[in-house]
Amino acid sequence: MTVYDIIAKKKTGGVLSREEIDFFIAGYTEGRIPDYQASALLMAICLRGMTDREAADLTGAMMRSGDVIDLSALGARTADKHSTGGVGDKTTLIVAPLAAAIGCTVAKMSGRGLGLTGGTVDKLESIAGYRTSLTPEEFLTTVKRTGIAVVGQSGCLAPADKKLYALRDVTATVDSIPLIASSIMSKKLASGAKRIVLDVKVGSGAFMKTEEEARHLARLMVDIGRAHGRSVCAVLSDMGAPLGRAVGNALEVAEAVEVLRGGGCPRLRALCKPLAALMAEGALGLPREVAEERAEAALTNGDAYRKMCEWIAAQGGDASLLHDTSRLPRATHSYTVRADRSGFLTAIDAEAVGRAAMLLGAGRERKEDPIDPTAGVRLERTVGDRVERGDAIATLLTDTRSDRFPEVASLLSEGIAIGDAAPILRNVILDVIG
Ligand code: URA
Repeated sequence: MTVYDIIAKKKTGGVLSREEIDFFIAGYTEGRIPDYQASALLMAICLRGMTDREAADLTGAMMRSGDVIDLSALGARTADKHSTGGVGDKTTLIVAPLAAAIGCTVAKMSGRGLGLTGGTVDKLESIAGYRTSLTPEEFLTTVKRTGIAVVGQSGCLAPADKKLYALRDVTATVDSIPLIASSIMSKKLASGAKRIVLDVKVGSGAFMKTEEEARHLARLMVDIGRAHGRSVCAVLSDMGAPLGRAVGNALEVAEAVEVLRGGGCPRLRALCKPLAALMAEGALGLPREVAEERAEAALTNGDAYRKMCEWIAAQGGDASLLHDTSRLPRATHSYTVRADRSGFLTAIDAEAVGRAAMLLGAGRERKEDPIDPTAGVRLERTVGDRVERGDAIATLLTDTRSDRFPEVASLLSEGIAIGDAAPILRNVILDVIG
């Protein structure tokens, strides 16, 4: 078998065998196959696609390229959730403790943000003392004691994906559905949970811009997970506008706390509750309606909030900051973006808000960039609201990049639309697959 023949086969639309895929992944991970040949194969996959069986085999090969975490010591109720990334997506901060409060065991690895989409690990680091890196023993002990731990992703998880993703990023081969599905699922499967709930975002602030693409990605990921013996389902959720009212690390922690205390943005609750219920449905074997009722009860009776405090404290974080979120890192500079006419707010473009938050310091333009935990955008009004000319629509916040306020304000204003008629609002959940 040679990598040249594998590239030539895919270039002409052939279907790769499991052995060929294993040969390529092992050879590339171990450095025997150079980047130029891997790039050629990635491009051939982008142009020719993959069958579902090939995508499942690619996922398995990438999963086995590093550590595969064994969570069997934690019992049968392990549940995980993955979001394909969106603007203001703080769902893990809410869904993980909520699912744990209703009986799931949540041993979760999360990523950092890159570009427009924030990462859970960056958000958690805005809580003083929180340790995103635990030894494997500390991780398991914490989950056994509190039912939940959330750490940064270990470098040993799916190293083939790490290497390939970096190559895809610079060879215009990111936007291939089988490559995205196998990349995400290799890491989720290696993380070990029995139940996996996927939140596939659709819209301007997400990877998938159309519902059709998102549906295709979701179906493929569900099928890959099942082919590997896991219980998987996917939610398609709207990312045309940011999720919630806060975009930025400390701002999003504060917003997550509001929801866990039974309040917060209704659209955010409307997504988090079903996500936690779907985790419980698969992990605890509950009917979906019962799982939803338990999730609602845990939000209103304080169980979910208490679970968050217990979890944060167990990982060294100062849980008193959750009781008084005004003590989380706060920006010293702010700037108000105002309505330039009266009418109804018909759109707040997620991509524009994500870009604005990133430019203010909430995200990274390059991997090595530092994060300003105080930076971000707070939406004072939301889509559907009636506004008068001069009303505050959004507040820009930063400690480090106030020099960018005029540029960021005009970028954000371009993403805000005000019309004469109230818009028809889409549900945040567009569909549930599997
Ligand atoms: N997220 C991933 O982990 N991989 C992709 O290919 C795209 C998004």
